[in-house]
Amino acid sequence: MLIGFDPLYFLLLAPAMLLSAWAAWATRSRFAEWSQVANGRGVSGAQVARYLLDRFGLRDVRVVPARGALTDHYDPRAREVRLSEPVYYEESVASMAVAAHEVGHAIQHRDHYAPLVLRNLAVPLASIGSNLSFLVMFVGFLLSMTELVWVGVILFGAVVAFQIITLPVELDASSRAKQALVDLGLVSSPREQAGVASVLWAAAMTYVGAALSSALTLLYYLIRLGAFSDRDRR
Ligand SMILES: [Zn+2]
Repeated sequence: MLIGFDPLYFLLLAPAMLLSAWAAWATRSRFAEWSQVANGRGVSGAQVARYLLDRFGLRDVRVVPARGALTDHYDPRAREVRLSEPVYYEESVASMAVAAHEVGHAIQHRDHYAPLVLRNLAVPLASIGSNLSFLVMFVGFLLSMTELVWVGVILFGAVVAFQIITLPVELDASSRAKQALVDLGLVSSPREQAGVASVLWAAAMTYVGAALSSALTLLYYLIRLGAFSDRDRR
């Protein structure tokens, strides 16, 4: 049964939902907290990104401001580090952390970091999966066409795979960021170092929460479709 209220679904998903909710709250509150703390070097996120990119031989990667809050990302096609306006302009511990994290993705791109390459390859399939999986499952369910339901489940599996391969990419970008900030002397005190780690850890947990939610949803579908029952195996 894929439609309607099912206690099994909530039982399976509750821990992941709690983690996701906590991570979203922690990301915002830690970012807000460390946005209020000026970094010791008096550098904006844009300056941090520019400095790190230059030091890693990525002079041709541009640093540009982006609209909105927490919209920071690295665009591998345009070869741009895009920083949300607070990160771009403010000279805080939080902006330093986020800017260095996005530079971490630019370095991964240059190094052909394997999980990133895999993730980029998975993007088209995952976007088809996230757009169509529920529709395909729903239609298959309505028409009682088990094969079609399974096509939907497999499409959803592509989304889960994408979210899982995102985890090493995100964790690695953060560990590169923390290392570079310390090695190049941008972090000027243990307190700042702790602030950077705190901001980046909460952000990483949002990816863990999302991947866990999808993986458990997939597990739910598999249980409900009888993938683990012995009935059909005779
Ligand atoms: Zn990232």
